[in-house]
Amino acid sequence: MKVVYLDNNATTRIADEVREAMMPFLTELYGNPSSMHTFGGQVHRHIEVAREQVAALINAEPGEIIFTSCGTESDNTALMSALEFAPQKKHILTTRVEHPAVLNFCKAMYRKGYKITFLPVNKSGRLDLEDLKSSITDDTAVVSIMHANNESGVIFPLNEIADIVKSRGVVLHTDAVQTAGKLPLDVRKLPVDMMSFSGHKIHSPKGVGALYVKRGTRFSPYIIGGHQEGGRRAGTENVASIVGFGKACELAKKYLPDENTKVRALRDRLEQGLLKTCPDSRVNGDVESRLPNTSNISFEFVEGEAILLRLNEYNICASSGSACTSGSLEPSHVLRSMGVPFTMIHGSVRFSLSVNNTDEDIDLVLKIMPGVIKELRELSPYGREVKK
Ligand SMILES: *Cc1c(COP(=O)(O)O)cnc(C)c1O
Repeated sequence: MKVVYLDNNATTRIADEVREAMMPFLTELYGNPSSMHTFGGQVHRHIEVAREQVAALINAEPGEIIFTSCGTESDNTALMSALEFAPQKKHILTTRVEHPAVLNFCKAMYRKGYKITFLPVNKSGRLDLEDLKSSITDDTAVVSIMHANNESGVIFPLNEIADIVKSRGVVLHTDAVQTAGKLPLDVRKLPVDMMSFSGHKIHSPKGVGALYVKRGTRFSPYIIGGHQEGGRRAGTENVASIVGFGKACELAKKYLPDENTKVRALRDRLEQGLLKTCPDSRVNGDVESRLPNTSNISFEFVEGEAILLRLNEYNICASSGSACTSGSLEPSHVLRSMGVPFTMIHGSVRFSLSVNNTDEDIDLVLKIMPGVIKELRELSPYGREVKK
């Protein structure tokens, strides 16, 4: 059965062109890019091409791109580096809705004695910029605010955030893992010091990422060892994945308009169709300032996990806001921060699309969801209440 993949904020399919670009480095071109001999040394050139491709997606200089092993490493590296250069400052400013790569890093730093401010968001998932302004102190070492949220799709106003943070002379890091390829990014126009990216969210393999470090920003490596990446990230390069990531960035640039027309139209049709045919459903997050591919919908009085299981019978992949980890239902920290009621969080499903989705994918979901919701509500004691 064909897979209807609507979970692209979790990971994406490797594009055919990306896989093809990688193949030589998984087969005959296995040399170490640091080697003196031509066989290995020639590989290095391909890493530099990839660096140019990543840089081109965000209008950076190639020298401002450091390859890492993932988005998480990029986030950790950025924060660690900023803290390293402000040893006397003990305050980190971030938000309640960050990815665990930032959130849990900050919590670990809290245990080491740092003071952390987790800025709240409102019902639409938006930040209060006055709140941001008043939370920056002379003790603030770094501000880390994501560009767009992976669960709600809500986009934070990075330009305004950057103006506020930089006017106070504080280092600003942004997790842009979810915006690469979905929104235009131009670091020449953005006073952001460091920005994180991940390969597998934009149709290249898992296990590769990048950190943009603005020229002139003081940087300290997180992984220490050899001289790779100009001494900024040690470890023999994951050449095939880096080459694939470069290719994916080139493709992302090409498909950027499609994300905002074709993908957006599919997402809107899915969302409007579901809201119309499934009673007691609503969208979580600001519908204006939102990624074009993401729709987070709550179906009240139903368990999101139960919906996912039913969708799974049709090979439809999506995510729910109550991640079942180690047997306990942990409701999404993002939806909780937005003040979404518990019954709504438990009934939330995130659909995240990509350029690979088709009208048929959306047709299938629209066809089966009303029946799934109705059936599950009939099984639920709450659902029966409501119907009386
Ligand atoms: C996926 C994701 C990450 C982590 O990237 P990995 O490459 O999986 O480590 C970080 N931030 C956001 C917003 C993400 O969606």
